[in-house]
Amino acid sequence: MRTLNQHFINGQFVQSIGTDVQELVNPANKKTIGTLVLGNEHDVQLAIAAAKEAFKSFAKTTVDERIQMLQRLHDAIMAREEELTRAAVEEYGSPVKPSKGRTTFAALTCLYAKESLKRFSFEKMQGTTKIILEPLGVIGAITPWNANYTHICNKIAPAIATGCTIVLKPSELSGLQTHLLMACIADAKLPAGVVNIVNGTGQIVGAELVRHPDIAKISFTGSTPVGKIICKDASGTLKRLALELGGKNPNIILDDADFSKAIPMAITIAFSNTGQACHAGTRLLVPENRLDEAKELLKQAVASTKIGNPMDEDSVLGPLVSQKQYDTVQRYIQAGIDEGAELIVGGLGHPEGLDEGFYAKPTVFAHVTNDMKIAKEEIFGPVLSVISYRTEEEAIAIANDTVFGLAAYVSSTDMERARRVASQIIAGRILINKAVQDDPYAPFGGFKQSGLGRDSGVYGLEEHVEPKAILGYEAH
Ligand code: NAD
Repeated sequence: MRTLNQHFINGQFVQSIGTDVQELVNPANKKTIGTLVLGNEHDVQLAIAAAKEAFKSFAKTTVDERIQMLQRLHDAIMAREEELTRAAVEEYGSPVKPSKGRTTFAALTCLYAKESLKRFSFEKMQGTTKIILEPLGVIGAITPWNANYTHICNKIAPAIATGCTIVLKPSELSGLQTHLLMACIADAKLPAGVVNIVNGTGQIVGAELVRHPDIAKISFTGSTPVGKIICKDASGTLKRLALELGGKNPNIILDDADFSKAIPMAITIAFSNTGQACHAGTRLLVPENRLDEAKELLKQAVASTKIGNPMDEDSVLGPLVSQKQYDTVQRYIQAGIDEGAELIVGGLGHPEGLDEGFYAKPTVFAHVTNDMKIAKEEIFGPVLSVISYRTEEEAIAIANDTVFGLAAYVSSTDMERARRVASQIIAGRILINKAVQDDPYAPFGGFKQSGLGRDSGVYGLEEHVEPKAILGYEAH
């Protein structure tokens, strides 16, 4: 049992002023593994003051200096890769193999920001006007639990790259992981006050960041309902906002697709991170005349996807993060049954022999219509809704008939056709014949209620600067 009672403020671990506690639970066996002391407004205010002071000199650092810092942060994370991965398995329940992949990816995020920084111009001339892209100031970042290291690094790295300082509130369900990441940040020897992390709840620590006048921008990753609250609360100080929110992403299997590849891949896309992924493709659009074939292949693909102890090397899916998340998933499975969808795999309750943790059955429904709850709402668990269509136009219309617009997938043997379909889908990122997000420099973010702004590459850096135009130069 560990008690984690420190924040990382002004380059140091400091004891929390807030005294409320949150239990940290291993989702694979429901055992308490530690307690996290939650910060309050005073902790946040100290962190903001440190970040504000640090910004004065950090904004003036050179690109080269910041390149070195990003490299150091990458190296510090990789030096603790095993320890970080173990904590993610224990606290979050993600199986060891994908957990390791995500730890490495978090470190790589720093190198991607470094490469983007090398290509970024902070100044340009436009006729007789000089345009300077100035760092915004202190960024307030708020992150979720579903890929703790990645989300934190995705906020810290572009802030460092652009000369901004940051106060970050991670998820209160990720205390153990965050504590180790704070140690990496300390190891990286960044200037004091550049990166500050305050543990706490959204309602107290998160809300203080959102309303504080010294925060220039809120960079939030989380659910759409909380994104909407933040939008309202940030309006009092007219803060800049970047909101990376939820999705109900369509995966269109065109009628000429190679089903032997596309259907198993659809399971990977839907159940990635045990379905707790914003980019999960949870609406599978299948041509009506090939539905039976798809159903058979879906059953086989689920049967060969091992759900089990996250410590096992061959587990692909693990438990859900919490009792709350497990209950939510159960409610949606019940809703699918009540609304008359055909349950073809899974269902209510735990998979056989896995009732000691928050394990849900990987579940697939067919004959789903786009007006059902399980087609409209983000579930954030291993539940896939199969919707059939008759024509390509109908598939595109169904794909776009959603309040979300984060990601989408298209499978076809005809690349020109797949690209044509992809271009008509309203979503921030569309993958053709692949499950892996393999371009770290491509913008990531959502249309419609999936958010505002973009992460990644140069687009992610642009979110952290404000253009200033100085008119009065000589024409060249
Ligand atoms: P959540 O919205 O409940 O919480 C996210 C963060 O916001 C947490 O740190 C929480 O403490 C904080 N928060 C809660 N209420 C707040 C408030 N009133 N003011 C300020 N902060 C507040 O989301 P979650 O359950 O942690 O994560 C799952 C959600 O995140 C899903 O909807 C998923 O789609 C989304 N997500 C989106 C992306 C993306 O890149 N688009 C990536 C990962 C997760």
